Amino acid sequence: MAPKKTVGILGGGQLGRMLTHPAALMGIPLLILDKGEFTPAKQTLLAPEGVAHPDGAFTSEEHIRALAKACDVLTVEIEHVNADVLAAVVAEGLCDVQPSPGTIRLIQDKYLQKAHLAAAGIPVAPFQALPNPSAADVKALASKLGLPMMIKARTLAYDGRGNAPLKSTDDAAIAEALAFLGDRPLYAEGWAPFVKEVAVMVVRNVAGEVRSYDAVETVHRDSILRVCSAPLRADGAAMRGVNERARQLAERAVATLDGAGIFGVEMFLLPDGSLLLNEIAPRPHNSGHHTIEACHTSQFENHLRAILALPLGDTGLRVPAAAMVNVLGVDANMGPVEQMADDALAVPGATVHLYGKAESRKARKMGHITVTGSSDAEVRSRVRTLLSQQPDLDK
Ligand code: ATP
Ligand code: MG
Ligand code: MG
Repeated sequence: MAPKKTVGILGGGQLGRMLTHPAALMGIPLLILDKGEFTPAKQTLLAPEGVAHPDGAFTSEEHIRALAKACDVLTVEIEHVNADVLAAVVAEGLCDVQPSPGTIRLIQDKYLQKAHLAAAGIPVAPFQALPNPSAADVKALASKLGLPMMIKARTLAYDGRGNAPLKSTDDAAIAEALAFLGDRPLYAEGWAPFVKEVAVMVVRNVAGEVRSYDAVETVHRDSILRVCSAPLRADGAAMRGVNERARQLAERAVATLDGAGIFGVEMFLLPDGSLLLNEIAPRPHNSGHHTIEACHTSQFENHLRAILALPLGDTGLRVPAAAMVNVLGVDANMGPVEQMADDALAVPGATVHLYGKAESRKARKMGHITVTGSSDAEVRSRVRTLLSQQPDLDK
């Protein structure tokens, strides 16, 4: 057998942590770059013998270069890394990087990502750049795109922290939205009047083989994912074939990007059954967490297989239905998070994941709970129980 290649992961959060589980099963050596010795991912897998997980920022040139020298392939569990250094690492032949640094760089800027997808003929909501925004600029865009309108940070956005919905063009509403977004490059999107949000995980290996998972329904509140249900169900004639259409659109969108790995593709399902693409994550994604318990091969295992030029695993569901409920922090107190996790242990078919984060904060992803079941109805009822045990974030 060929010696196992060492994988370097930029980012040591919960997605990195869930990559360590299949790596342990398959005996794949991993090195995790993040600040701190005890991040979620570093807690679950030792570094190879004689080496330590590097302690440094995943944006640090020095640390990325050192990691590249110690690894055969670098990958990311977060897109907000230093794409220029990754490109240099590839150009200098130091190490393979998957997905490609160009893909990571494109996705980092949500406006450029949208422009790329639109140019490739992928349907997206109408969008416009908003350089140096003034109240007058915002009003002019709102008259083009309509209200409500979503003003978004182009970069460093996650969990809706770069999104400000604008419902009126009152000066006060505009000032509030711009103040929330702060001094960041912005753009604006027309509102997508979705009936559901949908996501599809797509994996492509180094050889170019592509597989997608069943589409899921994702439910967000205040721009943050709360519940994800698999597979997607949508009633009515307009919705016919929506799972297959979502998979095809997601595969088509990923085909416009270079590099191997798993991609999370977020979409809006409109009342007429058509789909708009929201955004793509070039990494494992929250809407694929259920694949650990519910699919033959999880998104995390398939990501490792994809970047290591190994055969891809079966993306099919191995249970009739599944769902995932995020465990969000309420405030700095860890108590409500631990209580929800403990309560979930009594729910049949539930698997608890806590990420080992040292600090809780309001709306921070602290863990998740997956439930599987023999029918949609059974899973829905289990989700209702979990949600009734969830602490109230708005108190
Ligand atoms: P993520 O954590 O997925 O990276 P993000 O911070 O990049 O999220 P988006 O995915 O752009 O943010 O938006 C988060 C959520 O806000 C969406 O899932 C959706 O619920 C809502 N949203 C975003 N854009 C629009 C839009 N144009 N119309 C309606 N709702 C939207
Ligand atoms: Mg995003
Ligand atoms: Mg998103």
